[in-house]
Amino acid sequence: MSEPGVFTLSLDVELAWGMFDVDGLDRHTDSYRATGDVVDRLCTLFDRYDVPATWALVAHLLRDCRGGPCCPDRPAPAYDWINDWFGSLPCQTGLDPALWYAPGLLDRLTDAVNAYKNVLKINSEDAEVLSALGFIYEIQEQNADIALMFCQRASQIDPDNGLFRHRLARIYYNRRHLPEALDEFQKAHDLGYDSSHYIQQTTKYLQDDQ
Ligand SMILES: [Zn+2]
Repeated sequence: MSEPGVFTLSLDVELAWGMFDVDGLDRHTDSYRATGDVVDRLCTLFDRYDVPATWALVAHLLRDCRGGPCCPDRPAPAYDWINDWFGSLPCQTGLDPALWYAPGLLDRLTDAVNAYKNVLKINSEDAEVLSALGFIYEIQEQNADIALMFCQRASQIDPDNGLFRHRLARIYYNRRHLPEALDEFQKAHDLGYDSSHYIQQTTKYLQDDQ
């Protein structure tokens, strides 16, 4: 039997740093300005469909070098046949900092947990947040009891949500509570969430255990 494939999603966020030395910046400034919004919407989308992604950020997006040397530890090339690449850095040419300095992007990628916690303070019965936060805890291997409790509660509040069932099932699966896992995976599947891979795996493990 063939193994399922693995699709890895890796996003590289560069803004003006990506193309400043190979292409005119003018054509892309609108795209660079929209990057924050795009990152935000992608995070929302990945959260909703439970898609893991790896993010890479150009480090200088986090560093405001205005008023000081850009890269004091990196001397300019000594050969006159090499272009003075450093002189054309986005941060050295008076370009709008919004195009090359964006520390807020990192905040957006790291503060999902805080945002979810704040929502729960306002509404402790928000099923979407309970399910998402519970599953984040599970992935991070933190707060194991709370992870399970949040995902169970989310499925009680909204029993017809396949994704919530699937996440709960994943927690049971991780903890080898296989009959409970299989039951929830099948419910998730019946509700339209594609849990077929996990149904197969869980069924196989249950047979192996017999
Ligand atoms: Zn700089």
